Amino acid sequence: MPVPKRKTSKKRKNQRASTKFIRTKSFTECSNCKSPLNSHAACSVCGFYKGKKVMKTKLDRMLMRGQAKEAAYKKAHAAHQHEQSTEPTEESQNVQKDEE
Ligand SMILES: [Zn+2]
Repeated sequence: MPVPKRKTSKKRKNQRASTKFIRTKSFTECSNCKSPLNSHAACSVCGFYKGKKVMKTKLDRMLMRGQAKEAAYKKAHAAHQHEQSTEPTEESQNVQKDEE
């Protein structure tokens, strides 16, 4: 097992420790939604950077999924209605034949 050749001096240890403190991070405000933001980064809330929409956010994706689901539901519903509209005519014809 590798072992350090020399003892770490107080100076070296303290120099290393001097860099390990909590710094306040600089941040800016989003120009679109006014939420706090890391500088030089796109806003994760609204997806804006320098006044332009540059990326899709979680909310955007959720909305897209919702619309896609709605469209699929409508499509399925429309197809179902179409099936229903064709079925009763056949049934009614059968019923009419039975009655005759
Ligand atoms: Zn924003």
